[in-house]
Amino acid sequence: MLLNKPIYMYDFLLTSRDIDLRNKAREFVAQVPRELLISMDEDKVQYPTDFVRDLAENGLLGIRFPIKYGGHEASWVAEMAVLEEIGHLSLALGCLYSLPSICGEALNHFGTKEQKEKFLRPILKGELFCAEALTEPRGGSDFFGATTIAEKKGDHYILNGQKRFVVGAIGADIFLVYARTSSDPNIPPQKQISLFVVERDDNVKVKYTYGLMGTRGGGAGRLVFDNTKVPEENLIGNEGDGGKIFYQMMYPERMTSAAGILGMADASLRIASRYSSKRQAFGKPIRSFQAVSFKIAEGITLLDSARATVYMAARALDEYQDHPALCRRLVSEAKRVATEQCYKVIDLALQVMGGIGYTNVYPIERFFRDARLSTIWTGTSEIMNLIIQHEYYKEVIDTSSLQRDAELDAKEAFAEEEKVYK
Ligand SMILES: Cc1cc2nc3c(=O)[nH]c(=O)nc-3n(C[C@H](O)[C@H](O)[C@H](O)COP(=O)(O)OP(=O)(O)OC[C@H]3O[C@@H](n4cnc5c(N)ncnc54)[C@H](O)[C@@H]3O)c2cc1C
Repeated sequence: MLLNKPIYMYDFLLTSRDIDLRNKAREFVAQVPRELLISMDEDKVQYPTDFVRDLAENGLLGIRFPIKYGGHEASWVAEMAVLEEIGHLSLALGCLYSLPSICGEALNHFGTKEQKEKFLRPILKGELFCAEALTEPRGGSDFFGATTIAEKKGDHYILNGQKRFVVGAIGADIFLVYARTSSDPNIPPQKQISLFVVERDDNVKVKYTYGLMGTRGGGAGRLVFDNTKVPEENLIGNEGDGGKIFYQMMYPERMTSAAGILGMADASLRIASRYSSKRQAFGKPIRSFQAVSFKIAEGITLLDSARATVYMAARALDEYQDHPALCRRLVSEAKRVATEQCYKVIDLALQVMGGIGYTNVYPIERFFRDARLSTIWTGTSEIMNLIIQHEYYKEVIDTSSLQRDAELDAKEAFAEEEKVYK
């Protein structure tokens, strides 16, 4: 019964179908054993495929993908609502939930019918486990500077290079790997890169697994491709389509980071609100001190404004993908605002808890360690700012003639000799 109550303020933004999917996710999340989260945080479990299989069996994968490949053909908004629920668990499980959405985006938009049958369908069924390999030891932000090389030899490609920090280096069956297929300086960098599905059995070596501050249990490691032979039918799209595919894949990449962290911030704030109603100091519940209750006010305000930005970007993706500049800006804003603000929310919750919040008696210290990653991976906040300013400057210049020019509403607006630009 409780599951059907509109306990989230934003329920009115969702359709009844979105709410059904969200509630299904909420029920699923409620029964995930706490031992799984703890074992992952202790690095005793890496990339738990059973979790992904259970998600598939409960009909929670492929929210946006075609029914004929095992998806739901629902909206971006629905996927965000589901992810917000999954986010209550941990960042690593949120990531395992998101990988089929991220890798699936490339396969669904650019894959052949055969590739969809061979890879997308079993991914959404929870029978094939996927990972994405973009970042290289030489740097993740400068994506188009990738140095992993794919050379065509007859009916296959030979891959040489390395990818770093790949979640699923331990555990995944297939890797979506971007590699350079041209170094011709006359070809723009976006068209020098191509995307391949590399099957683990094709000779993929895991050379290092990382000890992480948080977000543990995702099996993050460094992959080495040493004359790895990839059949030509595993090229996604055409040679040189890497840039185009990357831009499309970055929608789910960044939106899943943005929506997952909402759940973690929500969980932290709820724990801190309950605690501050019960915990006493100076003979009173600590929530009666405004220094405490205003932290809760600050937290929920930050969380709701992050939520609003995420759902606005999701609506844009549902309705305006033919305006890629708008989508790119809103998705980047959602990623930056949600990850930065939710990290602050978790920090505020920790402060409300006092010393016990810093211990593993409560999960907020784990959320805090997990959340720190979210402004770094899937594109750092600085890279989000690069995109946001780029698209916004273009928009302001392109649309300046469409609106009232407020610059002229100053008394001395026509004092041209005072408007000095150089
Ligand atoms: C636990 C974990 C899991 C990950 N999972 C995956 C995964 O599954 N697959 C994958 O491909 N990658 C993954 N990543 C990689 C992640 O996306 C990158 O770490 C991230 O994109 C940053 O790249 P970098 O670490 O090489 O930092 P760099 O690119 O070296 O950047 C270092 C600093 O410089 C700043 N910077 C760089 N260029 C600019 C610029 N032009 N303007 C302003 N500032 C700039 C950055 O913002 C950052 O602060 C993961 C990382 C971690 C830690």
